[in-house]
Formats: sequence, structure tokens, C-alpha cells
Amino acid sequence: MRISSAFDSGSIEVVDIHPEGAIRLNLRRDHVSDPSVEIRQWFHFRLQGARCRAVTLCILNAGAATYPAGWKDYQACASYDRVNWFRVSTGFDGTVMTISHTPTRDSIYYAYFEPYSWERHLELLGRAEDSPLASVDDLGATPEGRDLNRVRIGSGAGGKKQIWITARQHPGETMAEWLVEGMIERLLDGNDPASKKLLAAADFHIVPNMNPDGSVNGNLRVSTTGANLNREWVSPSEERSPEVLRVRNEMERTGCDFFLDVHGDEIIPYVFAAGCEMLPSSTAAQNAAQQRYLDALVRAAPDFQLEHGYPAGRYSEDALKLASKWVGHRFGCISLTLELPFKDNFNRPDAVTGWNGARSKVLGGQVLVALAETIGR
Ligand SMILES: [Zn+2]
Repeated sequence: MRISSAFDSGSIEVVDIHPEGAIRLNLRRDHVSDPSVEIRQWFHFRLQGARCRAVTLCILNAGAATYPAGWKDYQACASYDRVNWFRVSTGFDGTVMTISHTPTRDSIYYAYFEPYSWERHLELLGRAEDSPLASVDDLGATPEGRDLNRVRIGSGAGGKKQIWITARQHPGETMAEWLVEGMIERLLDGNDPASKKLLAAADFHIVPNMNPDGSVNGNLRVSTTGANLNREWVSPSEERSPEVLRVRNEMERTGCDFFLDVHGDEIIPYVFAAGCEMLPSSTAAQNAAQQRYLDALVRAAPDFQLEHGYPAGRYSEDALKLASKWVGHRFGCISLTLELPFKDNFNRPDAVTGWNGARSKVLGGQVLVALAETIGR
């Protein structure tokens, strides 16, 4: 048997492999980060040579992960063909996480969540530009030289609402880019009435992957400069966080009337949002508009709910370091962090897939339906 992870978003450390089927592993820490703040959670690796053998994959340092509570009620993702992903039996005793599985093929992949590869990202950009409604532009290079791209959808005719969507500031939260893929496909569907209504009133600026370097390197939360991009919005820098700097500068140029920053939550098994109501600058009108949108999203998206989420936020200066808070403060618009689960939506669980890419894509379209309902009000 052999374990490998030398591929896009691969990450694991092998301790030893017992011929009887016990495999001991460790989570690798994020590519580069402040040594005082170790981040480990994402894994993605391939196992070969275990066809029809009962294997136990023991992740020894799971208890020392960044979010150990993320392993409670968690089932790992697996795929033979890297297209169809399913959940496999996983347990956590507070220290070690154990994946127990009998693969039926010679080669199988295991991952924290259904990956979204850099190749798929590039194909998404290519497919978007097939449409006359979309263009793709270059916002600059990442520290490792990858392209930071924006997909623009709409006429750009002027006088329209400017809608910004960002995903994968935290690169291991791949569900965020799955959501964006669903959103782009629906916006470019010329037969979709919600999309037609939206594009008559608005231009979209979508950054499907804010953290290409962290994504390819298999990080959960940071870029390869060690920056948590979602804490860089007050003072992004060319050296540490050029991704945020470029997007922020472009947002300043276009303005912003609605912002959605899409994430994944390791612990909470529901789809939920966090808004800007705790900001001292937030007005009653802004809060009412935010609530109208959230209520519309409850109607449009059966997976979205308002009951479970983060506790009501207390304002601190640090809050503005987060993208959605900074944008809400700067532009006075509806500005939300949308969180999708790594585990499942416990209101509508699926034992085979858990939460996955396909469900995230559907939600990406429903986000637009809610926006079509509330835009212009
Ligand atoms: Zn996140």
C-alpha cells in the first residue's frame, strides 16, 4: 500500500503503514504560517494497493487540529474517480480521527471536503467567457505567480448596481467555489428569469478564487505568505496580501452595492450568514435591507436558515479586518459572509454525500433568486 499527496491541493504526512491495513497519518500544517499560530485541518491524499482490504486510516494529531470540534459528527470524503465523492465511516475519540473503509478499487482519494482543483477553476473561467455576457480580467499575480482573475457579468453600461462576490479567501473552503460555479452558470443561462432580471439592473464582479496559492498548496486558511486574507482588509499590502489589495482597489474604483463573501464552516452543520448589524456605522436602513435579503434567501433556498450560526457579534476594531465587515462599513451596503458546512446540513442530511459540491452549486443559483427578489427595493 502507498499514500501520496504530490498533486493539486494534496496534503498529509505519513507516519507508517502496517501491511495488515493500519495506516498512521498526521495532518500537515498550512504551507507557511506564523510559527506561533499553527493551522492544520485540510487533508487530501491518494491510497493505492488496498483493493478489498479493510483499512483504518488513523490521523494521530486530529485532536490538535485548528478546529477539533470540526471532527464531531464528521464523515470523511472519498472518491475513486475524483468526480463522484461520497462519505466514509469516520470516528473521533478526542485525539485520533479514524477513517475505516474497504476500498473496492486499487486507487482511492480521501479528502476533508470535495476538492475544487486549479484546473477546474481555469476551465470555469474559460466556460464563462464562452458567453457574450461575461468577460474575464486579470487583477494581477499572486506571490507564487498564479493569476488572480475576476469574472465580470453584465453589460457594464453604467448606472447599474455593482455586485461583488468573493470565494475561497480560506483556500480549503472549496464549497465556496462550488457555489460560485453554480452562480456563474445560472447568471449565464439566458433562459433564467431571475438572472435576466438581475442583469437588467446590475453588473457582477465575481472572484471565484481569492487564494490560488493556498488552494494549490493544500492549505486550509492561509496564503503561502502565511496571511489569513480574511483578516487583511483594513491594510492589505503588496508583500503580504496582494490578493486583497487588488480586489479592494478595484472595488473602490467600481463601488459596491451588495457583497457576498463565501466561506465554509468546519463546526456548524448548517448554512448560515453573518452580517454587519454590529458595526457602529450600520444604519437602520442598512440593517432592514440586510434582513429583507436574508428573509428572501430563506424563501429561495430551503438549505438556508436563520436559527443556527455565529452568536450575535459584538463590535470590535478587529471586525473591520474581515472582508464583509470592511465592505459593509466602507460602502454602507448589504454585506454578508455566507457560510456553508463541511459536514452536512443537519436539517436535510444526506448520509451518502453529506454537504457537497453539487448542493453548493444549487445554493449559488438560489442566492441569485433572493437577490432578484430584493434588488432595487
Ligand atoms: Zn472561511
